[in-house]
Amino acid sequence: MKIENIEIDIIDINLTRPYTIAYKTTSSIQTLFVKIILSNGNVGLGASSVSKYVVGLDTMDSYNNSKKYVDHLIGNDLNSFWMIINDIENKFIDDPGSKAAFNLAIYDAYCKKLGISIGKFLGRKVNSLPTSITVGIKDTQETVSEINEYLGLGFNHIKIKLGNNVEEDIRRINIINEKFGDKIKIRIDANQGWSLDDTIRFYSETKQIELIEQPLSVEDLEGYLKFPSKIKDIIALDESLVNFKDALKLSSDNYGKIFNIKLMKCGGITSGQQIANQAFQNNIDLMWGCNDESILSISAALNTALSYKNTKYLDLDGSFDLQKDIVRGGFNLKDGVLHPLNSPGLGIELI
Ligand SMILES: [Mg+2]
Repeated sequence: MKIENIEIDIIDINLTRPYTIAYKTTSSIQTLFVKIILSNGNVGLGASSVSKYVVGLDTMDSYNNSKKYVDHLIGNDLNSFWMIINDIENKFIDDPGSKAAFNLAIYDAYCKKLGISIGKFLGRKVNSLPTSITVGIKDTQETVSEINEYLGLGFNHIKIKLGNNVEEDIRRINIINEKFGDKIKIRIDANQGWSLDDTIRFYSETKQIELIEQPLSVEDLEGYLKFPSKIKDIIALDESLVNFKDALKLSSDNYGKIFNIKLMKCGGITSGQQIANQAFQNNIDLMWGCNDESILSISAALNTALSYKNTKYLDLDGSFDLQKDIVRGGFNLKDGVLHPLNSPGLGIELI
């Protein structure tokens, strides 16, 4: 079955709830969309939304690179699935946006051809997990009311963005703990905003914290080695863990016991699997995170996540605040738990 044509587009999507983290405010995103059309008329769909701050190029750069690749891919036989996947891996080593969009589209097309879901193709080790939902940097009152809203929707894993001022961060979390107690599990994302001492102070002056994402700057990687091991146990490396090279480095010593894998950092399912395997071999737990992104790529991340038994945390709330999406389906969300679908491919259909 030959790849007959490929359509590429870039789509602007506004967010219903603009948010602030330690280094930026986001109110809209761009999505690269790839549609692979096979000789029998079937299609495979892929998408990506990368963060320039994290991966060094933006989605428009990926769109321009992707356009140049189309002619190279047209005419290939989808039965040579691994050859095509490997070609994409090797072509876009430094462009995770293009890599992810093509990687997902090929997986979607191939699984549809086999008549099985991506979950079946990858194999499932974990049936389902709750996802956290994120509260950006806000004052305490707004944070409390947003948590109440999420509790009402069935979520009880709340990720709170901190990192501007550790004193204020501690105060805020202690108020939240007092108010909600064990009704919620709290994850923290400091987005590189703290020092070593800030982090240790935060850890000792708060309680019931499930994990802390990337407290220190990517420039201060060696700082992570200085944490006591009880703090390392709940450190999730995010901005410092972009690709497989980072995974090699970060598993060579104890920088933190949790890897936050995002398909939008490493560039799709195949690259995500490489990092996940490296983590598994080194007894590192997995958290699967996301950018603001389509249901399409969230479904890919969810199914990849559930194919690893060291997956302990999902943070796949990236499609909830899009004003529109390009597809529907992908997963069911019930009481904060993401359940993948069993329909062929990524389980999505174009809107
Ligand atoms: Mg993060």
